[in-house]
Amino acid sequence: VFLPHLVASLEVEETYIMIKPDGVQRGLVGEIISRFERKGFQLTGLKLFQCPKELAQEHYKDLQSKPFFPKLVDYITSGPVVCMAWEGVGVVASARKLIGVTNPLNAEPGTIRGDLAVQTGRNVVHGSDSPENGKREIALWFKEGELCEWTPVQEPWLKE
Ligand code: GDP
Ligand code: MG
Repeated sequence: VFLPHLVASLEVEETYIMIKPDGVQRGLVGEIISRFERKGFQLTGLKLFQCPKELAQEHYKDLQSKPFFPKLVDYITSGPVVCMAWEGVGVVASARKLIGVTNPLNAEPGTIRGDLAVQTGRNVVHGSDSPENGKREIALWFKEGELCEWTPVQEPWLKE
């Protein structure tokens, strides 16, 4: 099957990555940030944040008709989350690969969910599913002035 959203583009993109409350409670924050950092993507926003119910509902509004929606909102608001914005060529699809598929039992070993989780309802991390949603979600979770534009010194060693 052809999954266009899983094929990395050649465009510079932004994606919203969030460590969910279970990832924070289980002490996985450093481990998860590390995977994106070591890959070579660029961090442009980062904060620990207690998500209000309205924001969780807005973030997951496409899922509001699902039976698990109320549980999902409770989960995301059950403790602090780590909000991140990451930038890079093809970062949206590549981050989804690093994260693994929604059900951690089906996620490949080597992915975050494949290595660190066992249930869809506790799958430790979120990643935007398209460049459009990357932009939408970063705008939703970050206020003006919370994102940084900067040039990593390692850039010539990552890109020819
Ligand atoms: P994702 O893009 O891989 O995170 O998956 P979706 O966008 O389909 O769903 C968003 C989130 O809702 C998932 O990461 C899960 O935390 C949760 N979720 C999705 N499907 C289910 C389900 O069947 N049961 C429960 N409890 N949670 C679900
Ligand atoms: Mg999704």
